Amino acid sequence: MTELLRVENLRTGFHTHGGVIRAVDGVDFSIPTGGALGVVGESGSGKSVTALSIMRLIDLPGRVEPTSTISFEGRDLAALPEDELTKIRGNEISMIFQEPMTSLNPVFTVGEQIAESVRLHQHVGDREAKDRALEMMRLVGIPSAEKRMRDYPHQMSGGMRQRVMIGMALSCNPKLLIADEPTTALDVTVQAQILELMKELREKLGMAILLITHDLGVVAEMVDEVAVMYGGRIVERGPVKEIFDNPQHPYTEALLRSIPLLGMRYTTPLKAIRGMVPSPLDWPQGCRFAPRCDYAFDRCLTELPPLLAVGEQEAACWLCENGARDVQPLVAPL
Ligand code: SF4
Repeated sequence: MTELLRVENLRTGFHTHGGVIRAVDGVDFSIPTGGALGVVGESGSGKSVTALSIMRLIDLPGRVEPTSTISFEGRDLAALPEDELTKIRGNEISMIFQEPMTSLNPVFTVGEQIAESVRLHQHVGDREAKDRALEMMRLVGIPSAEKRMRDYPHQMSGGMRQRVMIGMALSCNPKLLIADEPTTALDVTVQAQILELMKELREKLGMAILLITHDLGVVAEMVDEVAVMYGGRIVERGPVKEIFDNPQHPYTEALLRSIPLLGMRYTTPLKAIRGMVPSPLDWPQGCRFAPRCDYAFDRCLTELPPLLAVGEQEAACWLCENGARDVQPLVAPL
């Protein structure tokens, strides 16, 4: 498969009076054409800032450091002039967020808003834009689409609004959809419907997906590869099945042990991860997970582990230095 997006050494900092908040601190990953990568982590891990950095939507005092490379089909988004980047945003890369109500304009109908997005990005006339808007409403499974085009956002349920947002994001046939917690604000049954819809559309349209979520259950359904983020860095990555079947990093293991997931066997009771994510103003020396890790030893407190290969996975943990984890995890598939 050809590579669509490659992110190398991504570093995004917020320059405040109190110092530099290093929210993303050296992140690398790639997504092939039509592929799906899930980025998972607790809030404060840097996953949403990673997504916004790719789109160059970081506001001052935030800054993507110049040593970062964000290559999209060979074009470096980090270095592209703003007018060229604007053509890519919404056309080739689209983004959907957690709460559609804040992204939709309350004073325009949803049909007008999708049509406006088509007009803006594809420079087509009113008729064509409206036809495309209707086509998208149907594509995302909104019943009585023609009638509901005239609805205002407040007249729709949260699930329907998220369908509208997906329709708007896909109206220009993007090659990459970045979805930041797309189902977090929805109740569980609607969540499942939206995930199913995204899965179907990915297969039908062949677009790639970068899915940002705190929910491991969501990535299990949706993606091919997973990157687990902690403390502004990727601490484990690999094929989704391997990550669930055999987590290598203690943080991935702790995440899996903290929530009940279908198809997993728990050899100990569920357990919350103790402590808090450390402050990005002052990352601890050594492994950033050490203050919360049940396996920490002396070296962890002084040396920051790089990603180390373990079979098809990579884990930033000194336990994996010999190509296999020394201590077996306490969670396994059934
Ligand atoms: Fe735990 Fe040490 Fe591995 Fe960090 S490097 S995750 S502290 S065992």
